[in-house]
Amino acid sequence: MEFIEWYPKGYGVAFKVKRKILEKRSEYQKIEIYETEGFGRLLAIDGTVQLVTKGEKSYHEPLVHPALLAHPNPEKVLVIGGGDGGTIREVLRHKKVKEAIMVEIDKMVIEIASEFIGIDEGLLRKMLKNECKRAKLIIGDGVKFLKENKGFDVIIVDSTDPVGPAEMLFSEEFYRDAYEALKNPGIYVTQAGSVYLFTDELTGAYKRMKKVFDRVYYYSFPVIGYASPWAFLVGVKGELDFKKIDVKRAEQLKLEYYDPKNHETLFQMPKYIREELQRL
Ligand code: SAM
Repeated sequence: MEFIEWYPKGYGVAFKVKRKILEKRSEYQKIEIYETEGFGRLLAIDGTVQLVTKGEKSYHEPLVHPALLAHPNPEKVLVIGGGDGGTIREVLRHKKVKEAIMVEIDKMVIEIASEFIGIDEGLLRKMLKNECKRAKLIIGDGVKFLKENKGFDVIIVDSTDPVGPAEMLFSEEFYRDAYEALKNPGIYVTQAGSVYLFTDELTGAYKRMKKVFDRVYYYSFPVIGYASPWAFLVGVKGELDFKKIDVKRAEQLKLEYYDPKNHETLFQMPKYIREELQRL
């Protein structure tokens, strides 16, 4: 038996699976969990791979750490989405973070991930009970939250792809709200899809972000479970160079996939896509 996620043009990512553990439909989406043969458990939402437990750090580390290490003092961090708990786990590795808020629209993802995925180091359960000192959970729409809350050093969007509840998270209006909600200096980072298979979505989001932020950067990383390389976009408010990170802080983190050496190679893109992005 296998689980296959089909991307455009018949490109697929497949895992051999031993069994299906769960399938539930929430108010927003279909949530499935499988036991794979070689990559631990797989979480899928609406048929798309969100993570495999043996390999998820190849996504969560490059999503979180470059932004937190490029910011001189990331005390207040907002995570939008991220219901599996991997992103908030990586955020809290940073001692400088005093307060982290996670806004996830679908409580069922959190409950299922905390019981059946378990990459969150017990955080989700604590956050559900409001017992986590540095991290607070809000069940709600990140789009609405960002209109009403401000004062963040770093905003991280760890969302599903730009369809359904996540569609607005890639709009110019949302980027404007994010810019307003950032302190100066501030960094906004979002996952931005498969470099080869969602190129139009990537260039579209990059173009809209350029209208809003003072500087925009793109980077990519090979992520286990996704049609890699996977793209990430960064919007900066103020005078901050995202290409420079605090190497001392980075070395203290002792990560598995990302380190200062990888930061240097983060910004490579296939030539024709790089040229397209530079034209925008
Ligand atoms: N790493 C994953 C990926 O790129 O495939 C994303 C993981 S995380 C499970 C994605 C979460 O974003 C989902 O749990 C979904 O409910 C949440 N989400 C989607 N739209 C949202 C919104 N507007 N506000 C808050 N959370 C949202």
